[in-house]
Amino acid sequence: MGILKPQYKFRRIFEIPVDFFRNNGICHLILDIDNTLSYHDSQEISEEVLAWLSKMKENGIDMALLSNNKPHRVLPFAEKLEIPFVPGAGKPLLKGYKEVLRRFNWEKEKTASIGDQLFTDIWGANRLRIMSVMVEPFHRESGKFLRFKRVLERIILKGEREYD
Ligand SMILES: [Mg+2]
Repeated sequence: MGILKPQYKFRRIFEIPVDFFRNNGICHLILDIDNTLSYHDSQEISEEVLAWLSKMKENGIDMALLSNNKPHRVLPFAEKLEIPFVPGAGKPLLKGYKEVLRRFNWEKEKTASIGDQLFTDIWGANRLRIMSVMVEPFHRESGKFLRFKRVLERIILKGEREYD
């Protein structure tokens, strides 16, 4: 497994069926927020994403939010969704992931991480050896650094098969 390759790719998080997790023995999800569940720095969340989150809950999939963004951005979001948030992620460092696993007593083999960035979400998950699932970002960022990262991501992902 290439450390910078997502194990699975989907276009949007709400396009991932419950059966995908079931078939892979996954019942815990570590979710990125910005550009995975919502637009960057936005508190808005689409109907499709809300419906997907409800469906996961109904099917007994546990979820936790792990974001590199500031707590004042993440907390209201987590409260609104009623999904626990573990602050200070520092992805791709492992401390945030490990904190989630420890706090909820989740087994690595049953846990997947979903996010839109190769250098945080995917790298971190692969380092920890939990399932890594990459989604396309909701929109293109305007910051130069983020754009630069996206260019690198495209180079690394080039040649991979298209989104499932
Ligand atoms: Mg993100």
